[in-house]
Amino acid sequence: MIVKTRNEAATEDFGARIAVVSPPGVILFLTGELGAGKTTLTRGFLRGLGYLGPVKSPTYTLVEPYELGVARVYHFDLYRLTDPEELEFMGIRDYFDDVSTCLIEWPDRAAGQLPPPDLRLEILYSDPGRRVVITGATPTGHYVMERLGAHQRP
Ligand code: ADP
Ligand code: MG
Repeated sequence: MIVKTRNEAATEDFGARIAVVSPPGVILFLTGELGAGKTTLTRGFLRGLGYLGPVKSPTYTLVEPYELGVARVYHFDLYRLTDPEELEFMGIRDYFDDVSTCLIEWPDRAAGQLPPPDLRLEILYSDPGRRVVITGATPTGHYVMERLGAHQRP
């Protein structure tokens, strides 16, 4: 599935749409070059869950937690990860459970230390705007994709 977003607001809106159709505990991998819109989409996702505060990429801290009432969301940015062993030191496994939603920028940096994602979102430059290529990789991911499709119909 490919979704075109013409500007920042459209990327945020798409992130919000994913959030409203995603069950808790979903794991999303976000790939694409620097500046593609991974953090923008994550901000939209959090807005979709009602979070109105600031969202910036946790480039130095690697992970930023958001407590949204009953929902818990972890936003990872592994761009600066040099040694995948660092993930073990931070107790990476504890972040993944049935109720914590995880959005992960630069998952490739983790070199196989992450659980498999439910959804892969690849953001590509496109003139104008961006293209988001979404792939469902588990039954949960396919379920989210189905619901996204349903939302797209008028
Ligand atoms: P990343 O996290 O992938 O490095 P960011 O989300 O931090 O990227 O930055 C993306 C930049 O691109 C922001 O300046 C944002 O305003 C812009 N942007 C996001 N989506 C679009 C779009 N669909 N079209 C044009 N610009 C966009
Ligand atoms: Mg980012």
